Amino acid sequence: MATTLTPVLTDTWDADRSWSLATYEDAGGYRGLRRALGMQAGDVVTMVKDSGLRGRGGAGFPTGMKWGFLPAPDGGPRYLVVNADESEPGTCKDTPLMMASPQLLIEGMIITSYAIGCHHAFLYVRGEILHVYRRLLHAIEEARAAGYLGTDILGSGFDLEITLHSGAGAYICGEETALLDSLEGLRGQPRLKPPFPAVAGLYARPTVVNNVESIASVPSIVQGGSDWFKSMGTERSSGYGLFSLSGHVTRPGQYEAPLGITLRELLEMAGGIREGHQLKFWTPGGSSTPIFTAEHLDVPLDYESVGAAGSMLGTRALQIFDETTSVVRAVTRWTEFYKHESCGKCTPCREGTYWLTQVLQRIEAGQGTLADIDLLLDLCDNILGKAFCALGDGATSPITSAVQYFRDEFVAGTHTPADVLFPPEHSSLF
Ligand code: NAD
Repeated sequence: MATTLTPVLTDTWDADRSWSLATYEDAGGYRGLRRALGMQAGDVVTMVKDSGLRGRGGAGFPTGMKWGFLPAPDGGPRYLVVNADESEPGTCKDTPLMMASPQLLIEGMIITSYAIGCHHAFLYVRGEILHVYRRLLHAIEEARAAGYLGTDILGSGFDLEITLHSGAGAYICGEETALLDSLEGLRGQPRLKPPFPAVAGLYARPTVVNNVESIASVPSIVQGGSDWFKSMGTERSSGYGLFSLSGHVTRPGQYEAPLGITLRELLEMAGGIREGHQLKFWTPGGSSTPIFTAEHLDVPLDYESVGAAGSMLGTRALQIFDETTSVVRAVTRWTEFYKHESCGKCTPCREGTYWLTQVLQRIEAGQGTLADIDLLLDLCDNILGKAFCALGDGATSPITSAVQYFRDEFVAGTHTPADVLFPPEHSSLF
């Protein structure tokens, strides 16, 4: 199911009944929790800080630092919310992780809750993946029956309950504050930040919101230590991660590898681009990141290198397109997604994504004008940095980068005024 260079997250994915507690424990599962419960909570936070783990949900914010932002305990509740609302086009790493190894996530949630002083954690799963919801529900029940959840966990005096919550299938609810609104029973729309959730999150209480893969990385850090984690990856992008290869590749799937690996190396493991074809363009981190081309095959896939090359590592969702793909069609399809998923709260995103799709559809149909290309870029300029949350910004990335690398294809979708005045089918009249 997964090819691995760092068999950590995917270690047991190919085992028989990999998702069961028995398989997980046989492979050493819950040793990290035992170790953490023997440590001071603050030392666990320090260990994760020292490891350099950065949020695997896309933004790459340092995980331990985020935990450290929680204010000092005041006797009231504080929460951990795991964001399992994976919805970015091309992003498909958390779902297989939760299906194959749900106990890894649960162990990570217990350790994190212990570290931050949380006694009620929430797991928010996107609405469409009922099969994952069922698997997680079963895993939580197994963990509770074995004494890993509930009161006095493993005799440590630490108590924790996990609530599993299913969203209703809105992309915006992956934005952490929209997720919190949704969890509170409100319509999922982003909140103004600051305050960040660390200060005022769920029910206005201090809340850590972390991605599934980030939390699933915690047990191995506690067990292996921060130096072990830092021995993988690059200096500022430490550790390993799941790289999801999809599209025109011989063996699509999840490839677990140290950060800093290149697409060229990943493609070698994945059997290359499908036979007889060549790489045309690809996304390093899902559709919200600027596209790359064959000239970026050797860019190390870490936060700094991808940023320096003009894109973002994002969710490491590597969507691969060969020369048979129309870049205009791909970008139009993504933009239709953003238009559909815009929550409507802010004007630049609500109106901008609608307008972008209209212009792109014109160009795709060969009905655009040269001025439409400038209009596209102008619209992107008026959305980027002006939308309420990252959804609007993300919608512009594929467009601006596609025009940068494949302007000719956009021009091919336009007609000049002369074409309008003298359409080719009427040429015999002149
Ligand atoms: P962000 O950079 O605003 O925040 C990242 C995290 O750091 C958040 O949890 C935020 O609360 C925290 N943070 C940042 N500054 C802070 C501060 N001063 N104090 C306390 N906490 C602070 O990014 P974002 O808007 O949360 O996420 C955008 C990213 O989401 C994009 O880069 C994209 O890659 C990713 N994304 C992922 C998916 C998916 O399906 N996994 C979907 C869409 C977008």
